[in-house]
Amino acid sequence: MADEYDFDVLVIGAGPGGYVAAIRAAQLGLRTACAESRETLGGTCLNVGCIPSKAMLHASEYYDAAANGAFAKLGIKVTPELDLDTMHGQRKDAVKGLTGGIEFLFKKNKIEWLKGRAAFTGTDTVEVGGRSVRAKNIVIATGSSVTPLPGVEVDNDKQIVVDSTGALELAKVPGHLVVIGGGVIGLELGSVWKRLGAKVTVVEFLDQILPGMDAEVRKEANKIFKKQGLEFKLSTKVTGAAVSGNKAILTLEPAAGGAPETLEADAVLVSIGRRPNTDGLALDKAGLATNQRGQIETDHSFKTSVPGIWAIGDVIPGPMLAHKAEDEGIAVAENIAGLTGIVNHDVIPSVVYTFPEIAGVGLTEEQAKARGEVKVGKFPMMANSRAKTNHEGDGFVKIVADARTDRVLGVWIIASVAGTMIAQAAQAMEFGATSEDIAYTCHAHPTHSEAIKEAAMAVTGKPIHI
Ligand code: FAD
Ligand code: NAD
Repeated sequence: MADEYDFDVLVIGAGPGGYVAAIRAAQLGLRTACAESRETLGGTCLNVGCIPSKAMLHASEYYDAAANGAFAKLGIKVTPELDLDTMHGQRKDAVKGLTGGIEFLFKKNKIEWLKGRAAFTGTDTVEVGGRSVRAKNIVIATGSSVTPLPGVEVDNDKQIVVDSTGALELAKVPGHLVVIGGGVIGLELGSVWKRLGAKVTVVEFLDQILPGMDAEVRKEANKIFKKQGLEFKLSTKVTGAAVSGNKAILTLEPAAGGAPETLEADAVLVSIGRRPNTDGLALDKAGLATNQRGQIETDHSFKTSVPGIWAIGDVIPGPMLAHKAEDEGIAVAENIAGLTGIVNHDVIPSVVYTFPEIAGVGLTEEQAKARGEVKVGKFPMMANSRAKTNHEGDGFVKIVADARTDRVLGVWIIASVAGTMIAQAAQAMEFGATSEDIAYTCHAHPTHSEAIKEAAMAVTGKPIHI
């Protein structure tokens, strides 16, 4: 009987997955609570992830433009002075405003915030903040945390060996920052400190940065970052770090084995990936287990193997992205309410917010070729009038289409505003567009997005401006 339950829906975790699920559930008339152990709502993304990193990327991009000649090229002469405290202050303001906004939305939607760490005590009961709560549906949205690297101990307080949270907070610009892992976090936060004056060396285990992205994009991105002054040690692994005084001495080895070398750093960022948060949840009390990667498996509707328990976001398989978690949050709430909530996991865009930005959606050229014959259209940003005018000529748009049906299978972009441009590609793919559909869609001039139209025209070999 419904009355035996405290809530129709209890969401564990108030990140982009959990808070969105809670809001949608409440909008659908379900009695909803959300357990969150942090002081503020919004999860990794709003507190220590997407938002504070973008605040630092935005501010450091302006500083770099002022300090390194981009403003001068436009006829603006300035000699900037870095006020890092103020830069950190505006980051904290952004976080405060946005996390406070979620608290407002919880109140508006009458969602009860259960403060504390939640742990299962049964299949439909959870202990949180000293209270036992019974819910008809429980959504696990506990997110992820930094993957530790054996031999390299993170201590964010000391500000020498840090994770992404520590790297957002550095009180001074390090002389030499070594980034372990050439993935998204390493390149975004490495870019921030490079722009503010640090020497940055990225140590990557694989033979190229940005695994998972299109091979041509990875290679071109590497070239652009090198041009910006980032240094790379590819096919190299870090096997240890010793902190001595204000320095860290890292031990590096070739990934394939060989003689070790050492590298001295003023700060070290460990960014080798993230792992799902299930510790302390007492999943066994609910009859749940994790897979080999520590994730909770679900079906397409986000049901776990235990009736009434659902899971979404970073804690389940798939890319660890805020918008993926949000879409799953909406879908799971709709499914709980008896509607049909669907997420098309084939069309999840991903964006690296460096300069230029790097974005992709769908299949890489390599993945598409492994499935059948493809046609590829490419257009350089240098030939796009707006990008050229803005001195933003690095990068290209690449469209991968099925050779037989012309259906767009993947779109890859390196451009100053690739993160904004990729939305068009995702929408087109969601509607099953062909490259011809994109090529014959009128795009405003002069915009960076015209490069997408031209790349679509290039699929059939007929772009206008190259
Ligand atoms: P989370 O946001 O991790 O939230 C889970 C919440 O659950 C946390 O607040 C945690 O405190 C809480 N919790 C965990 N266990 C319990 C428990 N037992 N009881 C109560 N509460 C609990 N993604 C993007 O798409 N774009 C970006 O630009 C981007 N930038 C990022 C930058 C950085 C530096 C980092 C680290 C990540 C970034 N991400 C980005 C990834 C993004 O933050 C995650 O994919 C997203 O936050 C996942 O959402 P989630 O709701 O699954 O989990
Ligand atoms: P990642 O998986 O993107 O990159 C980790 C990198 O570290 C990989 O290239 C891997 O080969 C390398 N690596 C692993 N072990 C290593 C070792 N011992 N030595 C050297 N290199 C090693 O992980 P991340 O950058 O930590 O980011 C974690 C997650 O957060 C990602 O899944 C990402 O989706 C998400 N995130 C997204 C954004 C965004 O959307 N803009 C921004 C930040 C983080």
